[in-house]
Amino acid sequence: MYFKTIDFSKFSSIKVGTPIEVLMLQREDEIPKDRVIIGHANNLLVSPTPPPLMMLSKDFSFLELEDDFLTVGCATPTGKLLSFAKKNDLAGFEFVSKLPGSIGGMVAMNAGVKSYEIFNILDAIKIDGIWIAKDEIEYGYRFAKLGGVATEVRFRVQKGFSKKLLDELVNLRSNQPKTASAGSAFKNPEGDYAGRLIEAVGLKGVSKGAMQWSEVHANFLVNHGGGTFEEASFLLDLAKERVFNEFGIKLVEEVQVL
Ligand SMILES: Cc1cc2nc3c(=O)[nH]c(=O)nc-3n(C[C@H](O)[C@H](O)[C@H](O)COP(=O)(O)OP(=O)(O)OC[C@H]3O[C@@H](n4cnc5c(N)ncnc54)[C@H](O)[C@@H]3O)c2cc1C
Repeated sequence: MYFKTIDFSKFSSIKVGTPIEVLMLQREDEIPKDRVIIGHANNLLVSPTPPPLMMLSKDFSFLELEDDFLTVGCATPTGKLLSFAKKNDLAGFEFVSKLPGSIGGMVAMNAGVKSYEIFNILDAIKIDGIWIAKDEIEYGYRFAKLGGVATEVRFRVQKGFSKKLLDELVNLRSNQPKTASAGSAFKNPEGDYAGRLIEAVGLKGVSKGAMQWSEVHANFLVNHGGGTFEEASFLLDLAKERVFNEFGIKLVEEVQVL
């Protein structure tokens, strides 16, 4: 293991944060218990004083196809998984396009689009060095109780990559803001949409400093450049407070605040 200084104002997709020392894990390392694992920071809002952080090094970026099984290292970028599936004509991975991040982040968040979620297609996850079958893991909409660090994910694969489905899913994302963000800020409450609620309480387009509830999609907290953790937190708190006061609904962050 070794330390690397990561500037979260550059590395994170929302471009908020400061330079932080992050412990980089290598293949042979024992996984520390006193650190929070991060992926590629596409779903993170990192404060200037986060808990001690660790990250999987490139040792965990690989794809291995053997018979009906595909094993993917958790530091593998989602884009690599998609191109591998395309090249090898594998079905079920089309939704991974436009979901920025690592495979580790994807499984921890049970990331997905519409009814397509990573847990639908995976078979087992190696957590803290032990393979655990999917059925033994509690998971749901944008959460999975991994209880440790995922280093590898195994999929049972079938032939048939669908270019048509890929195109449909890419089109679906064309209305998303292009400005820096961490994707959806809040999870959709049961039977409703966080974006609708934020808009209904008059926050769509509202800014604090460089941070703004996007004019394109109200559930995207966007950074126009140089936005701070304090500004982002202010807008998250404001949305939670207004939505609770007007609708009695408690919005829950999808973005992981550290
Ligand atoms: C423009 C944009 C659009 C997006 N659209 C969507 C969308 O449509 N659907 C969707 O689901 N998400 C979406 N996201 C969010 C993001 O793509 C996913 O959450 C992605 O899976 C995050 O991966 P990451 O590697 O960046 O994880 P990070 O953001 O670094 O971490 C996310 C969480 O995963 C945990 N984690 C990371 N790696 C591991 C590991 N190896 N073991 C255990 N836990 C781990 C972290 O502790 C953290 O809690 C979007 C993001 C952006 C910026």
